[in-house]
Amino acid sequence: MAERSNPVADNRLFYNVYVCRNCNAKIRVSSQKVLRRNEVRCRNCGSSALRPKHKELRKLKV
Ligand SMILES: [Zn+2]
Repeated sequence: MAERSNPVADNRLFYNVYVCRNCNAKIRVSSQKVLRRNEVRCRNCGSSALRPKHKELRKLKV
């Protein structure tokens, strides 16, 4: 497997990427928008329960 230590690629793949808690759909949106209100909705199921993709990255790195 390739090394996962490229910060540029990590940013592109995980920064501003959120995952729907309901259906696990990936959503690209600025974190500002998510934090301000729950004005971001999942395209798939319409839920506003999102989590940052970041957390998954941390798990993988262990
Ligand atoms: Zn969803």
